[in-house]
Amino acid sequence: MKKQQFKVAVFNGDGIGPEIMAPTIEVLQRFAARAKTFSLSFESLPAGALWHEKTGDCLPRESIAAAKTADAILLSAMGLPHIRKPDGTEMVPQIDLRMELDLFAGVRPVFTFENGPQILSDPRAAKLDFVLVRESTEGLFAHKDEGVVVDDQYATEQLRITRKVSEQLFDFSFRLAQSRAKLLNRPAKLMCVDKANVFRSFWFFREIFEQRAAHFSDVEASAMYVDAVAMKMVQSPWELDVLVTENMFGDILSDLGAGIMGSLGLAPSADIGLDHAVFQPCHGSAPDIAGKGLANPMAMILSAAMMLEWLGEKHLCNEAAESGSQLRQAATQAAGLPEGRGYDVGGTAGTESIAQAVMDALS
Ligand code: ATP
Repeated sequence: MKKQQFKVAVFNGDGIGPEIMAPTIEVLQRFAARAKTFSLSFESLPAGALWHEKTGDCLPRESIAAAKTADAILLSAMGLPHIRKPDGTEMVPQIDLRMELDLFAGVRPVFTFENGPQILSDPRAAKLDFVLVRESTEGLFAHKDEGVVVDDQYATEQLRITRKVSEQLFDFSFRLAQSRAKLLNRPAKLMCVDKANVFRSFWFFREIFEQRAAHFSDVEASAMYVDAVAMKMVQSPWELDVLVTENMFGDILSDLGAGIMGSLGLAPSADIGLDHAVFQPCHGSAPDIAGKGLANPMAMILSAAMMLEWLGEKHLCNEAAESGSQLRQAATQAAGLPEGRGYDVGGTAGTESIAQAVMDALS
């Protein structure tokens, strides 16, 4: 039988990026070597703050073009605080890429690990499992390069919500709620997170949410203000299922999610559009620990597991989807072992040891 060939574009990035990407590719190659129905090939593409320092370009057009021809994109982390644009902001090619590829749905799962870190003391928080969908192409990030400071007296930025992207985002989120309900054998729920009581743009966002909800009558649709959700994520996160929100709110809440998981080093993500998808950890390039062998590769490995699951679903390749689920299980199992517990979660395991623990759990 002819194997399905999946081409993966790889952005190694800055800081700890290359350190966590290398073991992730090794794990993926292990799956590819034993798979009967699919194969993986990898192409490394230049981008990032260091690349900008060398060439004056943090996201070359050639890299974007090559990424567009790939079946999926793996990205570790980009940006370095000491390399900045003339206006003082950091290079964020990962955000530019989301906009370039129309990756409107940033999927940020929040879950706890068996025998892993337990940040919230309530026993009901021992088994958390919810998902945050962060709109990733507009909101307060839409005009991110156009903020102005006027006469050194005030600064202003714009927030943009469009009907088209919001409809795509909500439809994606309703479908995610449906598929999770099926998988977990429970009612489907989706909550819109906004600030519709204060801002006209969020009122528009909420209205579109309610209009789309009418097309998904099997999903219980609700809405809550972002401040109340932030409190709920700490006080009773076990009541949450699928949440959908604007870009900036999602940026903040996903770090809160990573915090209740135990560390940014454990939190995976996927940025998904209609044609392309990028899989990357929620964390940044962590320059404070780069080159020391301390980076936790778990979030990167779990993001790769999401990639396999997504490829499997998109291309109707059961083996790829199953490999993704096996990898997720192996990684979550390894995270609970001493050799899989990184410094960031109070353990003593470095990058190599954690990657090995995942490999061992796989075999
Ligand atoms: P960005 O704004 O690009 O998301 P950030 O400013 O939030 O980045 P990070 O680079 O994510 O910052 O790092 C925040 C903290 O978390 C740092 O102390 C860093 O060392 C730690 N950290 C991030 N990722 C990891 C990881 N994979 N393993 C261990 N520690 C990590």
